[in-house]
Amino acid sequence: MNKFQKMKKIEEEAKKCKKCPLYKSRKNVVFGYGNVNSRVIFIGEAPGKNEDEKGIPFCGKAGKILDELLNAIFLKREEVYITSVLKCRPPKNRVPKEEEIENCGIYLEKQIEIIDPEIICCLGKISLNFIFKKFSIFEKPILNKLHGKVIKKNNKKILPFFHPAFAIYNPQKFKVMQKDFIKLKELLC
Ligand code: URA
Repeated sequence: MNKFQKMKKIEEEAKKCKKCPLYKSRKNVVFGYGNVNSRVIFIGEAPGKNEDEKGIPFCGKAGKILDELLNAIFLKREEVYITSVLKCRPPKNRVPKEEEIENCGIYLEKQIEIIDPEIICCLGKISLNFIFKKFSIFEKPILNKLHGKVIKKNNKKILPFFHPAFAIYNPQKFKVMQKDFIKLKELLC
C-alpha cells in the first residue's frame, strides 16, 4: 500500500469512530487534507462549525488566515498536510478534554507515522502539548516563549506556531505569525 492508500484506510476507520461521545454531535469527521507525501504536517486543535459541516480542516475563518500565512511563504494548502488533534467538533468549540485527546490521538499518531514528515508545525497549545508528549520533550510547551523556534527531536523539526484563530481576535498578532512562518520557509529551502 502506498501512503495515500494507507491514509484512506485510517480515514475510513476514523469515519466510523465511536470511541468518545463526540460522535453523537458531529456532522462530519474532519480527518485531514492535503499532500500525504509532503515534508510538512500542520496540526491544529479541533474542528469548528464550518469544518464540521464540510468535513475539511481549516475551512473557516482560521483557515483563511492559515491560507494567507502559507501563501505569504509561497505554499499552497494542497502542498502540505493539514489536520487537527481532534477529528470531531467539541460542542460550542469548547477546549478538548484529556480523554478525547487520548482517544483521538491514535489517529493523529497514525497520520504522523504514514506521512513521516520532516517538519511538524503545531498550531496552538493543544497541538504542541500533544507533540511534546509524543516525542518525550519535557520542556514546558509555552507558546509565548517557543513560537517560531525550531525544536529538533528524533530527526524531526518541530515548529510551534500560534493558532491562526488567535489572529481573529488579535489582528496585531498576524505580523508575528507571518514572521514565525518565515522559519518554515527557511527550513524548506
Ligand atoms: N481550528 C482547528 O484547530 N482545526 C480546524 O480544523 C479548524 C479550526
